[in-house]
Amino acid sequence: MLQLLKKMRSVMHSYGSFGLAAPQVGVPLSIFIVEFSEKIYEEFSPEIRKSREMAIIPFKVFINPELKITNYEKVCFPEACESVRGFSADVPRYREVLVTGLSAEGKPVSWQVSGWAARIVQHEMDHLSGRLYTDIMVRSTFTCTCWDKVNRTGGRIYVPFSPK
Ligand SMILES: [Zn+2]
Repeated sequence: MLQLLKKMRSVMHSYGSFGLAAPQVGVPLSIFIVEFSEKIYEEFSPEIRKSREMAIIPFKVFINPELKITNYEKVCFPEACESVRGFSADVPRYREVLVTGLSAEGKPVSWQVSGWAARIVQHEMDHLSGRLYTDIMVRSTFTCTCWDKVNRTGGRIYVPFSPK
């Protein structure tokens, strides 16, 4: 198990992402990990951090997690996913949720979160049910994140589908 978690964490780091579910690496287990490091946090502007209610999240593991919605208010912000690489869209998510499960050591854990952390948790929980953000996104906001680069380079770009 520890080996799997280590592997998941290194995959997450290599993509520069901050959440990963086991099915994304071909493992049919109900596990997700989260880590919103200071380095990634710093990549967002103070305005975005504030509006999306971002905060640094240390590495966390949830095994066989369950989700309870604790605030049904929905907030809509852009989301991306390494399983839909190169795109982004606005996605409505509940503002506050409670996630419970087991830690990497097999101990019961619960985490009450709001804002950005609640969004990551809902995104990863969806992966465990075979759902992607594209299933619930605001369709008119679906964007190819490569267009900026395409326009700047006159179309001469290479779009990799492997880690950076
Ligand atoms: Zn994802």
